[in-house]
Amino acid sequence: MERVYNFSAGPSMLPLPVLERAAAEMVCYGTSGMSVAEMSHRSPDFEPIILKAEADLRKLMNIPDDYAVLFLQGGASTQFAAVPLNLLPEGGKADYVVSGQFSGKAFTEAQKFGDAACIATSKPDGFRYVPHVTRGDLREGTSYLHICFNNTIYGTKYNYIPDTGDVPLVADMSSCIISEPVDVTKFGVIYAGAQKNMAPAGMTLVIVRKDLLGRSRPVCPTMLDWKTMADNGSMYNTPPCYTIYMAGLVYEWILSIGGLEEMKRRNEKKAALLYDYLDSQNYYIAPVMKEHRSMMNVTFVTGDADLDKKFAAESTAAGLKNLKGHRSVGGMRASIYNAMPYEGVEKLVAFMEDFARKNPKA
Ligand SMILES: *Cc1c(COP(=O)(O)O)cnc(C)c1O
Repeated sequence: MERVYNFSAGPSMLPLPVLERAAAEMVCYGTSGMSVAEMSHRSPDFEPIILKAEADLRKLMNIPDDYAVLFLQGGASTQFAAVPLNLLPEGGKADYVVSGQFSGKAFTEAQKFGDAACIATSKPDGFRYVPHVTRGDLREGTSYLHICFNNTIYGTKYNYIPDTGDVPLVADMSSCIISEPVDVTKFGVIYAGAQKNMAPAGMTLVIVRKDLLGRSRPVCPTMLDWKTMADNGSMYNTPPCYTIYMAGLVYEWILSIGGLEEMKRRNEKKAALLYDYLDSQNYYIAPVMKEHRSMMNVTFVTGDADLDKKFAAESTAAGLKNLKGHRSVGGMRASIYNAMPYEGVEKLVAFMEDFARKNPKA
């Protein structure tokens, strides 16, 4: 069977050279005589794997030494609780921007732990854009501002980094991490689930400025305490070894093609192909405001639920998989992460043109 173009929002495509390398190393890794999937995380065979993954990620994202890099479990959703448990003191305040479903979940979770407030939202407008916030919008004495940098379900993205002054900025970057260069120093904490743009599911990356470690609540579970994990090199307990290995292969692959500048160039080219087509016709509607369009998740609808359904079925049959929009919003969504080749987007646009021709609207 031939490989398809998989437009899934996550878990999603991985670069073919990475899959081929992992396949070649699956049974016997290097001189270890075993698979990475079988290795003790404390063995001399695994240690260089996790250290290289971290070093390559630091190089790729230009992460300064005063930031810790953690490879954790539990998905981005676990960080929705870990963030307040680590940064929101008893009796303190935390500010949230709700720009989509995941930031809404993060906000709801934080309310369990204290005074969390939504200081801006685009919900009344169907999350078609990202609100603009600046330090003047923050509440006096707030411990951090939480944002979701790329809204996977709605297909919007911050086109600016909020200026929060001395207040730490915390960003969920699950669906845009390592898609383009980002100035890490503008953030207190960056976190991301692996399964969108880094690796198979099972690993969560947390990049945290070191002065923010050690502020956790006494009730913070040990496993959610970033300091415990930082002090133990992400190995307080068994880390997601195999996913860390796969993420390492992805970091190495991006470095080999020219780093995040080149990654951005490729991603912009793919996204432009699709958005330019959307802008050139009026069969499909792209609901997101142009200046907040995501480079990773592209949403569109025909305006007719039956046609949307037909589109999903026929595109699947044509080898363009998982184009159905999120169950909460309907329509279509093409996730075109790092691993999606340009040809995949060309095939999609050709399919869209063909579908529009064959299925005129009443
Ligand atoms: C997918 C996603 C999540 C949820 O990730 P899990 O790893 O499934 O918990 C959270 N935030 C964003 C932005 C996502 O895209």
